[in-house]
Amino acid sequence: MRIVLLGAPGAGKGTQCKRIVDKYNLVHLSSGDILRKERAAGSQLGKKAQSYMDSGGLVPDELIVEMMAEAIKQLADGFVLDGFPRTVNQAVELDKSLAKSGQKIDAVLNLEVDDQRVAKRLTGRRSCPECGEVYHIENLKPKVDGKCDKDGSELTQRPDDKPEVVLNRLETYHKLTEPVVDYYNSNNTVYNVNADRDIGEITSDIFEKFSQLVSAK
Ligand code: AMP
Repeated sequence: MRIVLLGAPGAGKGTQCKRIVDKYNLVHLSSGDILRKERAAGSQLGKKAQSYMDSGGLVPDELIVEMMAEAIKQLADGFVLDGFPRTVNQAVELDKSLAKSGQKIDAVLNLEVDDQRVAKRLTGRRSCPECGEVYHIENLKPKVDGKCDKDGSELTQRPDDKPEVVLNRLETYHKLTEPVVDYYNSNNTVYNVNADRDIGEITSDIFEKFSQLVSAK
């Protein structure tokens, strides 16, 4: 299965992706994670992406499309795309590049959330720079304030989770990424999922929707 997961920043795409790939044995491809790795490695791509990421804007399509085409090319079987495509142009380019090898996106999952709620989720998010474990200052507190439960490292806030940047990310999402849902609505199966719920409930809903897809294959 080749799946695209759409939704505003903070809608819970990363969390749900992990659960989907575990259940269906797929590969999780997060454009944001790939970009953060490129930055940490100090690559040319990472350096070019830096200012866009830190301001909450989008990295230019040509950089992203090439980066993701390269990552997808290495996967023979299914994948779940998280954070890509984020513009209609990226979606068109993705379809074109899959079509070259006779492939297509099988399903699109759209996580729907309220702006105020995601803003709260994102600005309260903290993570461990060592192991990547994610916490929240209100909903998922570490045992000791500011320290990772797993390795005791000092928790940090992603620069793009700062309140002013979050506002910008949400604005960018509504302007450039929401139209991607309409694009897919015209030629793909789009499953809308209410993501303003308990994480487990959302996962069950997703699995139920996918069971139709899996049995139809
Ligand atoms: P994320 O972790 O998915 O929220 O991505 C973090 C940041 O990386 C975004 O705010 C963008 O600046 C950049 N980014 C990630 N994916 C894309 C994409 N598909 N197109 C453009 N920029 C992206």
